[in-house]
Amino acid sequence: MIPIDPQLYPKLVLALGGNALIRPGEPGTLEEQYRRIRQAMAHTADLVTAGFATVITHGNGPMVGHLLLQMDCARALVPPMPLFISDADTEGSLGYLIQQCLVNELHRRGRKQGVATVITQVVVARDDPAFLAPDKPIGPFFPAAEAERLHAEQGWHLAEDAGRGWRRVVPSPHPLAIIEQEIISYLLGGGFIVIAGGGGGVPVVRGPDGDLQGVEAVIDKDRVAAVLAREIGADLLIFLTAVAYAYADYQRPQPRPLPRLTAAEAQKYLEEGHFAAGSMGPKIESALDFLARGGKRVLITQCESLAAALQGQTGTHIFP
Ligand code: ADP
Ligand code: MG
Repeated sequence: MIPIDPQLYPKLVLALGGNALIRPGEPGTLEEQYRRIRQAMAHTADLVTAGFATVITHGNGPMVGHLLLQMDCARALVPPMPLFISDADTEGSLGYLIQQCLVNELHRRGRKQGVATVITQVVVARDDPAFLAPDKPIGPFFPAAEAERLHAEQGWHLAEDAGRGWRRVVPSPHPLAIIEQEIISYLLGGGFIVIAGGGGGVPVVRGPDGDLQGVEAVIDKDRVAAVLAREIGADLLIFLTAVAYAYADYQRPQPRPLPRLTAAEAQKYLEEGHFAAGSMGPKIESALDFLARGGKRVLITQCESLAAALQGQTGTHIFP
């Protein structure tokens, strides 16, 4: 397979999955997050030093879950904040950790390059059907009685989650545009590395007076990665997740890694149900969206395989 060369693909968006930041089952101490992010940034620094102009985006699922739990425990003492504030909080806190780890990693390699986190507002449609049917589970599990209380007192929607208890479900509207797009492009053009759209960014709508305002929702980070990539005119979109490849027949007796796909082939596998909704599905859909709007290549792989994947030796590579 053709290696991924910065001459061919100068501008990229790198989307870090939750797994690059925290693993399921880990309590998520700062030390753990720091260790994971440092590992991820060692691989990211390889991209930067290879000469790619890089925008980084990332998930925030576990961290938002922790914030919501903290707010629930302290609600008698401190007023709870809406979800869009938690989105902004985690863009800031994770952005800080990522930016510091990347600067440190580049510094160790004798390279001086600035990294900036941009708190990103992402426009969604006020009439997005997701607002009428919240289905994205977030935060901690509650027993049934507690779920009833939260519904009555907080107006939350809660849904039973696979026998494990009740969880808050929130709308996950489609991202339409990025308010800070010009700023991100400007920084990138100036030679800086930009962290943007973290956790899917802060969902906003325009009010009747034209003012932006946050809305109670979360946006899928894979979908925001595609919008970011399209809006900044990226050539390449990379998803770093928990698996080395997207597979056909995943979780069947004989899963088949898919090293190379055309958009049409990926579309066919998607329609045949090979990519699970809520995990691999949105990555493939976002990949197709990006490739349909001028993107040149998409790579899906895991952090530790990134170097080999850039050589074309592993990972799922999708072409228009
Ligand atoms: P991220 O935090 O990177 O978004 P997700 O858990 O949402 O991670 O998505 C990655 C997961 O998708 C993998 O760990 C795997 O369990 C799941 N998955 C579902 N279908 C597939 C598939 N066809 N091929 C590979 N992984 C798949
Ligand atoms: Mg995911």
